[in-house]
Amino acid sequence: MKHPEKLTGEKAGQIFNAINMGLILIDANEHILMWNDWMVKHSMIDSETALQKTISDVFSDKPSAAFLTSLRNTINYGLPAVLSNALHRSPLPLFDPSELSEDPGRMHQSITITPISASPDETHCLIQIVDSSASIKREKMLRSHSEILKKEATTDSLTGIYNRRFFDEHFKIAMGHSKRQKLPLSVFMVDIDFFKQYNDYYGHVAGDKTLIRVAQTLKSQLVRATDIVARYGGEEFILMLPNMPEDLAMQFAEKLRAAVWESAIPHLKSRISEHISVSIGVSTYLLGEDVAIPHLLEAADTALYKAKQNGRNGCCYMNAKSIADLVAPDKV
Ligand code: GH3
Ligand code: MG
Ligand code: MG
Repeated sequence: MKHPEKLTGEKAGQIFNAINMGLILIDANEHILMWNDWMVKHSMIDSETALQKTISDVFSDKPSAAFLTSLRNTINYGLPAVLSNALHRSPLPLFDPSELSEDPGRMHQSITITPISASPDETHCLIQIVDSSASIKREKMLRSHSEILKKEATTDSLTGIYNRRFFDEHFKIAMGHSKRQKLPLSVFMVDIDFFKQYNDYYGHVAGDKTLIRVAQTLKSQLVRATDIVARYGGEEFILMLPNMPEDLAMQFAEKLRAAVWESAIPHLKSRISEHISVSIGVSTYLLGEDVAIPHLLEAADTALYKAKQNGRNGCCYMNAKSIADLVAPDKV
């Protein structure tokens, strides 16, 4: 069997140069003793030039203060150091030559500084630099991808407001909170009047534009971060306002109705006016009531039906408790 070849200085140099990371060896006076090909490629400084300099003056742009401090701690106290990319993006002026832009940004780096004591009176220091740009780019891409997916899952693609799925989830949380905190919670169902006629007369594209405008008008009436408006179905919207009692809820519903009305979107085929109008059904969860989410939604829906029957372009209120009692009549 052939004995493995001894590692000669030349062979070691070849390996040192082939490693896919930056390797710099310095002495206790910060003089550069080794500078591998990776460093040449990413700093544009050849090794003959580097070997005549110290680590502080080899680059035209100075290394970061954190890098120099860590390096001196390693030399003076023999402490290894790690400059992670999360805290120290680009301590050294290194670039990726494969980046096509004229002004490529500094490479993201992860740096490890290791003391080497070859003899008692000599401390050397090995600096290893890894290019973390690729992993950061990948992480960023994944993050933005997952943010897009999250947004798509919660927003209505036409109007840009929340979708029904988000509303249902959020409503559950808000209802639990209201029960625990003993606070009221008001729900509003908003439906555009004679929208079928609108579409038939103005066309579907105009119909879509109007849905967007109505959604934005409703949204513009919300003030608190906890208030939510969502598209609930075709031309139907739903709003949820925590901590709003019933009398204020009716005032707010009237404000919503008036805001849509005052946006004065022409609707020549409406049987009640020449503008787009909405009808609104309101219900409120009141303190201590034994009312579940379906009761509240059904009460708001029944109130909406009443508003339509009353002639549209108006608001109606329905007590959720009466629905709850209707469902379980012997539970009073
Ligand atoms: P009402 O006053 O009783 O609410 O009458 P309406 O015509 O508004 O109600 P109806 O439920 O009969 O019709 C709703 C219409 O909404 C049907 C459809 O043409 C329209 N619509 C639903 N979704 C969309 C949508 O995404 N885009 C457009 N352009 N129209 C839609
Ligand atoms: Mg409808
Ligand atoms: Mg309608």
